[in-house]
Amino acid sequence: MFISTTQSEPEMNVVENSHYDVVIVGAGPAGLFAAHELADIGLNILIVDMGKDIDQRSCNMSEMQYCKHCSPCDIMCGIGGAGTFSDGTLNLRPDIGGDLIEYTKNVQDAWELIDYVDSLFVNCGASNKVYMPNDSETEQLKKTAASVGARFIEVKQRHIGSDNSQKVISRFKKLLEQKRINFLLNTEVTDIFVENNICKGILTSNNNKITARYTLIAPGRIGGDWVNDLVEKHSIKAQYTGVDIGVRVEVPAIIMNPITKINRDPKFHIYTKKYDDFVRTFCTNEQGFVVKEEYEGFIATNGHSFHSKKSENTNFAFLVHIELTEPIENTIKYARSVAKLATTIGGGKPVLQRIGDLRRGRRSTAKRIDRNPVINTLSEVTPGDISMAMPHRIVMDIIEGLESLNKIIPGVASDSTLLYAPEVKFYSMKLCVNEQMETSIDNLFAAGDGTGLSRDIVNAAATGILAGRGILNYENPV
Ligand SMILES: Cc1cc2nc3c(=O)[nH]c(=O)nc-3n(C[C@H](O)[C@H](O)[C@H](O)COP(=O)(O)OP(=O)(O)OC[C@H]3O[C@@H](n4cnc5c(N)ncnc54)[C@H](O)[C@@H]3O)c2cc1C
Repeated sequence: MFISTTQSEPEMNVVENSHYDVVIVGAGPAGLFAAHELADIGLNILIVDMGKDIDQRSCNMSEMQYCKHCSPCDIMCGIGGAGTFSDGTLNLRPDIGGDLIEYTKNVQDAWELIDYVDSLFVNCGASNKVYMPNDSETEQLKKTAASVGARFIEVKQRHIGSDNSQKVISRFKKLLEQKRINFLLNTEVTDIFVENNICKGILTSNNNKITARYTLIAPGRIGGDWVNDLVEKHSIKAQYTGVDIGVRVEVPAIIMNPITKINRDPKFHIYTKKYDDFVRTFCTNEQGFVVKEEYEGFIATNGHSFHSKKSENTNFAFLVHIELTEPIENTIKYARSVAKLATTIGGGKPVLQRIGDLRRGRRSTAKRIDRNPVINTLSEVTPGDISMAMPHRIVMDIIEGLESLNKIIPGVASDSTLLYAPEVKFYSMKLCVNEQMETSIDNLFAAGDGTGLSRDIVNAAATGILAGRGILNYENPV
């Protein structure tokens, strides 16, 4: 049976009590790459996603921020998943955006998997240009970083660009359709059903039961809560992971140019002296734009860059890693409550502050922001005081970390540098999986960000491939 819904309403009756060999929840990189791996051997495969088809998802990119008409679901959900409106930076390293080696058990296999993911993106139209760290410049940068107690992590990167990502995803979807993969869109999966510890399929919000021999859950970050519910309800083995809380930093592009010309998305890792906390740069958008993200109950910030439109600024996330131990291990709950506090103090908008004002313990007023030499690329903000929005320890880590970074990138912590809060990267509970990516429930497989197994596009896709291979191993045991 072929199902491909393109309208906004799910086709309620088509799938009732239908049966598949494999059902995949989530059409993000993890789900799509898993399906690609499973295709061609005659399995009957269905991908279910609560979002829309790729050509129906839209965001008002002309104003470089999400328009109020596009729902958070449109941004995070649908074919292509959360990465579709992203800057599309492919980090070609198995230990950035996840820890692939944990699942491949072998360093070389992990690197080969990264190359394979990359080649599939290129086949579907990702730019041929790769940003390779230059040996001598990288050596120098590593030395400078080391001299101030920081580490520079060299990463080979490919940049799809937000304005090209949709085309690449669209080609990938067409490829899957040619391979007879079925899609059921605009349909939320509410539960899995399990008998004698064997997963037998899924239930959708319109109470349709879809049975499958194998079920793969790849619901991305937006599906994190749903995964938590599944963990509790079906006693799936899982553990809490850390969260990253911090700010989005915006500086004139000329400050970052000497570094971004060496690496488009430079990764610096710093341990702060005062708290010995891990702070890092993440997701740099050269000449990009800061954007607001909306979640259920709070807002957050992120960044984009475009091939066709450039700002005068460069932005990056500056994040403090937080892990919690007894009696509170629920890092997701903690990160949410911090984000909610920041949302409250910002009146539903990101709080914007100049680092000079933060250092002096005063609020950035609209007047101070107006006369600031660095012009904010996100206008929907509340000038304010980040120390009212975040715990003291995080604020101190941010100030200290940026001052260390300033010794590597002079000017990055000058008084006029803009900080937007909150920037939150909370990762779902990490499901415990075996080397086939199978969970503690038989025939239930997991991949991608929503199951805590990855944190970026390439690693999500790679875990999808591993789950696909895991299922294939059950079909054709070696
Ligand atoms: C604004 C933004 C910018 C980013 N920029 C980058 C970047 O430049 N480089 C990078 O590597 N990463 C980036 N990321 C992260 C990247 O997008 C994710 O790491 C990646 O998309 C994770 O892939 P995934 O397949 O695990 O999940 P997702 O891409 O989130 O896809 C999950 C899919 O599952 C669906 N789903 C969830 N729950 C259900 C349910 N119950 N029923 C049915 N469907 C469901 C969702 O609709 C969604 O389509 C960015 C993310 C955002 C939000």
